Formats: sequence, C-alpha cells, structure tokens
Amino acid sequence: MELVDSHCHLDAFKNYDEVISKALKSGVKAIVTSGCSGKDNTKTLEIAQKYPEYVFPVIGIAPQEAMDMGSFDSVLSFLKNNKARIVGVGEIGLDFHWGKTPEQTSRQRECFELFLEFALSEKLPLVVHSREAEKEVLEVIMKKGAEKVLLHCFSGDLSLAETAAEHGFLMSVPPVPSRGREKIVKHVPLENLLLETDAPYLGGEPAAVNVSARMIADIKGIDVEEVSRVTTKSCIALFNLRC
Ligand SMILES: [Zn+2]
Repeated sequence: MELVDSHCHLDAFKNYDEVISKALKSGVKAIVTSGCSGKDNTKTLEIAQKYPEYVFPVIGIAPQEAMDMGSFDSVLSFLKNNKARIVGVGEIGLDFHWGKTPEQTSRQRECFELFLEFALSEKLPLVVHSREAEKEVLEVIMKKGAEKVLLHCFSGDLSLAETAAEHGFLMSVPPVPSRGREKIVKHVPLENLLLETDAPYLGGEPAAVNVSARMIADIKGIDVEEVSRVTTKSCIALFNLRC
C-alpha cells in the first residue's frame, strides 16, 4: 500500500531526517511539505533538495503569519525566483479564528489574493488553509477561476464541501476524527479526497498518514487499498509529482 502525505510541515521538525526515513519505511510514497513564512520557505526548499523524488515543496505565507507581516514583497520575490523548484503555492488562505481585527483580516485577504494571482499566472496548484472563513475562501477561489486546489483540513459544513467537490477541488483529511469531518468524508466522492497529517501541528508525523487512509476506508465502508490507490493517484496528478 502506497500513500502520499499531501500536507505537512517538515521544516518544523528538528529531526526531519528521522521523520522522513520513518515515513519511507512505513509505506509513504511521497511527502508534500508546505512553508508558512519566509524562514519556513527557505528551510522547506533545503529539505526538498535533499530528498528529490520523495519530498516536494510548496511555499507561501499562512494567513496567521500574513496578518503580522509588514510587507509580502520579499517572500513573493523568493517565490518567483524559486518557481521552478516548487510543486505549488501555499499554504495561503484566510483564518478568522486568529485574525479578528479589521486590520488583521484585511492583511490576510491582501496576502491571499497576491499569492493566489501568482499561482494562477504560473498555473501552479494552491494549498489553501481556511478556518472559520471557509465560505469566503471558496468564493474567492471560484471567482478567480482556480482549478487546481487543495483545501487542507477543510472544516466547512457539508454543503460547502459539496460545492468544493463540484468544482473539482480536493480536500485533504488529517488523521484526527471529528463529527464534521466524518460527514464530509462520507458524502464527498473519494476522488475529491486526499490524505494529510499537517504534522507536526496536529501531532504525529507523515508516517501517520495511514491513519487517515483507514479512517476514510471505515467511514466509506471500502477497502483501505482502494483509498490508497485513489488518493495517491489524485495527489500525484494535482501536484504533477515525479515520485
Ligand atoms: Zn498546515
């Protein structure tokens, strides 16, 4: 059984070499790792360079970081200079759980649109974070005509998840059960689901991606091998991974 972790943060592990070798041994075929800030992005590229054909980098500015940043220029030029080395732009998005004041939310919106425009101009897929902002995030990406989209840890209600699936967006499922997630996994087609760990932020490591696969298999009442086959294929296609 081969699995892909479509979203995690290897740069946040001090012992990332160990974490990667454990994932390799446990049947993880590839890891897509995302940066969240200037510093993270640099390290993300360094790690990916050490593991070509296994670790694939995505770089961007997470909304929680964007709201406190003075300028996005240096990260945007870093992104432009390294566009040939990455498989996507992210994580980017909106987070109204952390962004509360009008200043914070407007900085988040500004950053999200800036990076979204860049991704669209380069035809790169997006890795999108949304928290308590799912409806607005979907409206923005649909209005801009984005097609290659991964909504990571999507926690919107079922009708929003169905809208996302109808537009061909993918939703990645972390190895943490919740009522809302169960509903989404049950009703959204397997073709729109990916596996993720968001490691280390949701606890665990990329090796735990098999827990997400088993969770989806249990909820949908299908074989875990089918979950593995379909989600791996979709993730490789979304990011055009050469693994
Ligand atoms: Zn994340």
